[in-house]
Amino acid sequence: MTYTSTRGDTTPLTSAETIVRGLALDGGLYVPSAIPTPDKLPSSAYDYNEHALWVMSHYFTDYTPEELSGCINAAYGAENFDTPAVAPLVQTPSVAFLELFHGRTLAFKDMALSLLPHLMTTALKKTGNKNTQVILTATSGDTGVSALEGFKDVPGTKIIIFYPQDGVSVIQKQHMITQTGKNVSVIGVRGNFDDAQSEVKKIFLDKEVNAKINTDGYEFSSANSINTGRLVPQIVYYFYAYSQMIKGGMTRGDAVDFVVPTGNFGNILAGYYAKKMGLPISTLVCASNENRVLSDYFDTGVFDSDRPFYVTDSPSMDILVPSNFERLVHDLADKAALQNLTEKKKFTMPVPSDFVGYYATEKEMREAIKTMFTKHGYLIDPHTAVAYAAYVKKSTDSTKKDIILSTASPYKFPKTVMTSISDKYEKYDDFALLEKMSELTKRNIPTQFADLQSKEILHPTTVDVSGMKDAVLNSVYS
Ligand SMILES: *Cc1c(COP(=O)(O)O)cnc(C)c1O
Repeated sequence: MTYTSTRGDTTPLTSAETIVRGLALDGGLYVPSAIPTPDKLPSSAYDYNEHALWVMSHYFTDYTPEELSGCINAAYGAENFDTPAVAPLVQTPSVAFLELFHGRTLAFKDMALSLLPHLMTTALKKTGNKNTQVILTATSGDTGVSALEGFKDVPGTKIIIFYPQDGVSVIQKQHMITQTGKNVSVIGVRGNFDDAQSEVKKIFLDKEVNAKINTDGYEFSSANSINTGRLVPQIVYYFYAYSQMIKGGMTRGDAVDFVVPTGNFGNILAGYYAKKMGLPISTLVCASNENRVLSDYFDTGVFDSDRPFYVTDSPSMDILVPSNFERLVHDLADKAALQNLTEKKKFTMPVPSDFVGYYATEKEMREAIKTMFTKHGYLIDPHTAVAYAAYVKKSTDSTKKDIILSTASPYKFPKTVMTSISDKYEKYDDFALLEKMSELTKRNIPTQFADLQSKEILHPTTVDVSGMKDAVLNSVYS
C-alpha cells in the first residue's frame, strides 16, 4: 500500500512517511492508493486490539505486525482507557450508542491520539529520521487536550496547540492552559477555529519558516485529523461496533446505519472507508449543528461554506471548512469539484448514496439531552445529542439497526448538559455543576477533572491570527 496526495503530487509514500509528514507538500491530504477490500471481515470474537491489528495491517503495510501490536498495546491499555472494552456499545431502551470517550481526555479524539505518538516514533525509527518533530495543531477543543496528553514528554517531539480563545468550553480551556509537559506550548487565538486551522496550514507550508527550522534539526508534523495516523485508527471502531452487534444477537450480514456527529469530517470518513472495505453499512448519517455546511450538502448537493459562523454548545463541530471532505471528493474522482473545493467556497457535486445529512438546532440538541436522560436514563453530551436529534429526524426503517457514535463524555460540558435537563442549574458554574452531575448520575467525577479548577495556569498566552507564525518560532526555539 502506498499513499499519494489528493492534489496531484503523485510521489508514492509509505504510510510511515505520511504519518511523519501529516500534510502533503502540495497542501493536499494523503490517501491510500486503493481502499483495501479484504475477503473476510474480522471475527466478532476479536477484542478491540485484535480488531485494531486487523484493520491497520491492511493500511500500514510497511509496519511489521510486531511493530503494530506494540503500538496498539501501548495505546489501548489500562493506563489510557478506563474499560477493557475500550469503546463499549451501550444499548439504551431507545438506540445503541458506541461510547468513544473512555480515553484519558474523555473524547473520541483519544481513540486515534493515544496511538498516533507511538505510530510516529516508530515511523521515525523506521525512516531513520532524526529531526525533532514539531507537532503543529489547531483545535476546536478536544483534539488539543487529547494531543497534549498523547505527546507530552514524548522524546523527539515538541507540540504546539492553537485554540480559538472564545470557541472552546470552560473545562476544555482550563484543561489545555494547565497542561504540564516540558515539550508543550498552548496558545489562544483571537479568531475562530477555521481562522486558526487555515493559518496553521499556511505556516506548515511556509518555505522560509520550514527552511529555518530544518537547518536547526526541526520539522513540522500534524496531529490534526488530516494525518493518516488518525484516520486509519478511526476505521477500527466501526468494525468493532458491528462485532458487538453480532454478539448482541444481530445476524452477520445485516446492514446497520451509523449516525455521526460531524465537524472536520474525519470520524464519518473513517466510516466510509469501513463501508468500502465491505462492512455492511447501509447509510452514514452526517449530523451537523447549526454550522450545517455538510448536512446541507448531503441534503441538496450544494457545498457552500460561504455562510455565517455560529458559536454553538457543540464546539468541536463548529467548522465551516471541513478538512477531510477533500478525501471524499478525491475518492469520488470529481476533478471539477476538487478544484472548486480548494478555490471556491461554493460548488455542486452529485451526492454519493452512502450518506444522508441532518442537522440539529441548539434547541433540538438541548431537547435531545433532556429526552435521553428523563425518558431513558442515559446522559449524553451536546455533540452526541446533535447526533441523537439527527437520528430522530431520519425516518426510521425498522429493517436497519442504528448505532450513534457518542463522541464525548457529558462531564466535559456540564453547563450545557445540566441546564438542558433543568433550568434550576443555571445559577451554578461549570465546576459546581460537575458535582451536581455526579450527584445526579450517582457516579464519581472523572479523576481527570476532579482537581482541574485548582491547577496552576501554565499557558496564558493569546495572539491574533497574524501573530501565530512568530508564536510558532518562539515555541520551537524556547
Ligand atoms: C472532533 C469531535 C467531533 C467531530 O469529529 P470530526 O472527525 O471532526 O468530524 C464530534 N464530537 C466531538 C466530541 C469531537 O471532539
